[in-house]
Order: sequence, then structure tokens, then C-alpha cells
Amino acid sequence: MVPMNFYVLTLFPEMVTEGLHTSVLGRGIDKGAISIEAINIRDYAINNHGQVDDGPYGGGAGMVMRPEPIYDAFEDLCSRLGRRPRLLYMTPQAQVFSQAMARELAQETDLVFLCGHYEGVDERVLEILEAENVSIGDYVLTGGELPAMVMIDCIGRLVPGVLHNDESTLDESFGAACVGGLLEYPHYTRPEMFMGRAVPPVLLSGHHKNIADWRREQSIRRTRERRPDLLG
Ligand code: SAM
Repeated sequence: MVPMNFYVLTLFPEMVTEGLHTSVLGRGIDKGAISIEAINIRDYAINNHGQVDDGPYGGGAGMVMRPEPIYDAFEDLCSRLGRRPRLLYMTPQAQVFSQAMARELAQETDLVFLCGHYEGVDERVLEILEAENVSIGDYVLTGGELPAMVMIDCIGRLVPGVLHNDESTLDESFGAACVGGLLEYPHYTRPEMFMGRAVPPVLLSGHHKNIADWRREQSIRRTRERRPDLLG
């Protein structure tokens, strides 16, 4: 099994490693299906004071992450790997991440995530390293760590060997089997009756075709009610 390797360039490595080494992804790491390495940008600081940021040219509030530590951290990683993986810069100023993007990115062997902080990152290093910009939504967070973790969680579970049953990503919400990206049908488990509400009888029937038809109908209905935009 060739693992998929995630590298996160960050000023807060413990946030990333502690947040991702649990549950399904934690098991994926233990099984060798994926690896996650957080690289501390401060290890590449420009001086002995650990400086990684500076005031913005042109004035204004806040600090900007300097280009040299980011450049050195990425180049050091590339030399170590002997290849140049795709570099994704987490920024609200980009197309919003989607399940389709996750499926495409899951084909890679290595992915590097660059997490900004404060006002963001010096533009030149993004240009020089040919970073691809990705947002996780139209809102502003304090740093790129949570966006990187969201993306790694989403991409990581698509990597073969991470989930118990690889098929289970196909017919879930936005899954590859849902033409047009439908939302998934509702789920039920025991008990059969809960506070006066019964499980839909078709799910107890054992009739696979009827169950599949019911789920498909529920998927369409739910998508129409909650996300009509997905139906175009
Ligand atoms: N000044 C920037 C702007 O107006 O676009 C926002 C900077 S934000 C406070 C700091 C960092 O958080 C960004 O550099 C980026 O890495 C990350 N970030 C914030 N919101 C994000 C989002 N919606 N998607 C991805 N990254 C985000």
C-alpha cells in the first residue's frame, strides 16, 4: 500500500497533529494508509528570535507572514522528498473546497498545505512556489490550520484503506454515485420505536430494490428541501 502523505506548513503544529490523530484518520495513520506531518514554519525563522512575520508595507493593521521561512520550509521538504508536491494555500480569497475537489486531490501521493495567520502571507512567496489557493467557505478564520484539517479529513477518508468499507463514500452526500451531488437519505438504527416514532417500514422489509428506491426518493426530496441549488 502506497500511503498518501499530508504535510502542513504551520505556526501551530500541535493543533494539527493533535486534531487529526484521532478516530478514522488516526486509524488510517496507524494502518499506514495515510501520514500527516506538521512542519513548524518557525523552525525556519529569519533570526534567533524566531521571527516569521513583519509589518505590512504600505501601512495598516496586523502582521504579514514573511516569505523566507515559508520558502525555506517548502524547499527543505521538497529536497527531503526528492519531488515537488502540490502546494495548497489556505485562503478565504479562493474557490470554495468541494467533494469534487477532494476526489481529485485524493489521487495525489503528497499534498502540502500552507496555513496563513495574522493578515496572511507575503504574496511573492505564493507566486514563486506556485501555490494553489483554496478556501473552505465565505467567512474569515484566524488561521489556515482548521481549513487544512477540514480538507485533510475530507480527502483522507477517500484514500483506500482509511475507511473500513471503501464503497461507503460512493452513495453518501455529494458522493460519486450521486449524480448531480444529491444529499444522502436519512439513517435509522435500533430501537425500532423511539418516543412514538417508528422506523420507516420499508427498511424492515428486507426487500433490497424497494429499500434502494425509497432511499433514492428520500435523497431527492431532502436535496430539494435543503439544497435546491444542487438540483440545478
Ligand atoms: N486578511 C485576509 C483577508 O482579508 O483575506 C484574512 C487573513 S485570515 C485572518 C488569516 C489566515 O487564515 C489566512 O491567511 C488563511 O490562511 C486562513 N483563512 C481564514 N479564513 C479562511 C477560509 N475561509 N478558508 C481558508 N483559509 C482561511
